Amino acid sequence: MKPASRAVHAGRELGARSPLAPDLSPAAVHVFTDLADYDAVARGEKPGHYYGRNSNANREMLERAVAELEGAEAGVATASGMAALHGAILALVPRPTTVIATRELYGGTAALLRQDFEPAGYEVRFVDLTDLDAVSHGLQGAGLVIAETITNPLCGVPDLEAIATMARERGVPFLVDNTFATPLLCRPLDLGVTVVMHSATKYLGGHSDLVAGVIVGDTKTMGVARARSARTGTPLGPFDAWLALRGLRTLDVRMRRHSDNSLALARAMQSMPGVQRVHHPLLETSPSFSVAHRLLPRGAGGMMAFDLEGGRSAVQRMIKRFQLATFAASLGGVETTISYPEITSHRSISQAERTELGVGPGTVRVSVGIEDGADIIADFTHALSE
Ligand SMILES: *Cc1c(COP(=O)(O)O)cnc(C)c1O
Repeated sequence: MKPASRAVHAGRELGARSPLAPDLSPAAVHVFTDLADYDAVARGEKPGHYYGRNSNANREMLERAVAELEGAEAGVATASGMAALHGAILALVPRPTTVIATRELYGGTAALLRQDFEPAGYEVRFVDLTDLDAVSHGLQGAGLVIAETITNPLCGVPDLEAIATMARERGVPFLVDNTFATPLLCRPLDLGVTVVMHSATKYLGGHSDLVAGVIVGDTKTMGVARARSARTGTPLGPFDAWLALRGLRTLDVRMRRHSDNSLALARAMQSMPGVQRVHHPLLETSPSFSVAHRLLPRGAGGMMAFDLEGGRSAVQRMIKRFQLATFAASLGGVETTISYPEITSHRSISQAERTELGVGPGTVRVSVGIEDGADIIADFTHALSE
């Protein structure tokens, strides 16, 4: 099956009289009449569920669906993207080691590494992963590499294929946060990546109404992550799993529209008054253009950013004038939203660090929604007009 069809059907097998939409199964516990039967289910030798922290029908459907879409053997769904990331790191490197991470890392991930992993003895090195010489150098003595398919907020695209080759040669596992691209636009495991994580809060769910995470990879690593998630109590609840799976069904059509709308808005913004620079992976002016063209042949999703002359007051003026877009500190929903990295995703790092990353007081990140593209362009045109 092609990816669009998989998105509609993955994770379920229907038989005669099956409900076409999955039932919601909120049960915390299942009853058994046979001790040996319970024992076999608890050992994982027979299918079925016994206690909700260990497994649940809705969570299992979502895990299978995301694994199938990413081309992975197995998946583990967690209560948030951060729980997924934490679980993935501990499954890959349970003991302190050196972690190489992309310089433009998602703020929550950077905070997790600095505030939870560093005090536990891990050494974290932030490297510009679009610079392959720096990657090669950084890999010496490293125990794990963490990258994002598309970086936040300036939408750089590291060459995952080249990094995966270098990492594999040195036996270093490679973890990729594929939240911004989704498996409909990029499948990092096909490029040689070890484990993929998602904040399903964003595009997989797609409707800004749930918080969830998923990791996918080989059966052994996922088994380790699943067991720890059960022990530490981070699994995803049934209703959020049900919602995420429901969101997944329309992923292909949403990602196409997000991709078309974001590129159209990025192009239009290049000539809007007060706009100094537009960041989108598939604009010819992007430093990542050729890598993005190769790794994201179906489009780059809905994320883009721009730098506005006049800094914070110009951004404030624009927000007040929007009629369609809203300011909200998340992304990946059907609605067009903007975020202001200086006080949202990048608030925990110093101004000097922000400047080094290219994030200034005029930098605005846009999560372009699936409204009519002309309406979105008209809204930004009006909000930025003199
Ligand atoms: C939102 C996000 C996360 C964290 O996910 P939560 O679901 O908020 O815990 C991690 N990585 C990226 C790229 C994100 O956008």
